Amino acid sequence: MISVNMLSNYLYCPRKLYLQYVLKLARPPKDVLIKGRVRHKVFDVINELDKDIIKGIKSFTPYEDLVMIFRREYSRVVREVIDQMKLELLEVGVESTTIFHKLWIIFLKEAQDRAQYVYDFMIHEKVYGDSLWRRLTPKILTEVSIESNELGLKGIVDRIEIHGENYIPIEIKTGKMPSDGVWPGDRIQLEAYMTLLVDEFNKNIKEGYIDYTDYNERRKITMNPYVRDNILTTIQKVNDVLKGKLPSIVTNRNKCVSCSFRSKCHNLDSS
Ligand code: SF4
Repeated sequence: MISVNMLSNYLYCPRKLYLQYVLKLARPPKDVLIKGRVRHKVFDVINELDKDIIKGIKSFTPYEDLVMIFRREYSRVVREVIDQMKLELLEVGVESTTIFHKLWIIFLKEAQDRAQYVYDFMIHEKVYGDSLWRRLTPKILTEVSIESNELGLKGIVDRIEIHGENYIPIEIKTGKMPSDGVWPGDRIQLEAYMTLLVDEFNKNIKEGYIDYTDYNERRKITMNPYVRDNILTTIQKVNDVLKGKLPSIVTNRNKCVSCSFRSKCHNLDSS
């Protein structure tokens, strides 16, 4: 069974996929990968905390106080996660204070948005504590593992927002955002999750989103009748690479500049 990440790796460079999964060349840790892991972990922990925070709102709470509650909790989580991963961050030359300031821009906004959403719901529905949590939508799941034996595909969705019967998968990305739409690798990843959710969980999927957190922007991908066929075709291409010979160097050499395999890759035969 292949992973969803392998589909986006294939789109980036089939040779890279081969080096990583067939020749099993180890990749040096890159600071973006480590920073991405920290950010994922923070999202994971704050989503787990959400239930306790909301159940703890026992009576009407002004918006400013809600922001303070979410800010305090999110700030604590960011600091704790950075602390837990301090050694890995130092290995790639990232200081704790530097990454804290960068992440805090993202999570302060998250805290304000969540407080606003909960406040509006509370005012509208006039419910608190357990009832507030029970009735609040969307519920949010994070790091959800899904797989399909029929597709031969598995993956972990960053986040799923549940609005009644509608499930909305969301991928969280750091780094550069395209001027328009989403990167091809991000698109195929999200479309693969949408397909897995339809196939395996029989869920109603109309759309998904890529959150480009460094730009505070959410971009939409709509489900369409061609998504499943495109995923099946790409799965086949990935499997062909894994069973085949070393693919050629990618035509767009700009991709090699930031590739973690560049020091080894160009010395290998493409025959
Ligand atoms: S260095 Fe270039 S050709 Fe080689 S794996 Fe990386 S992107 Fe592909």
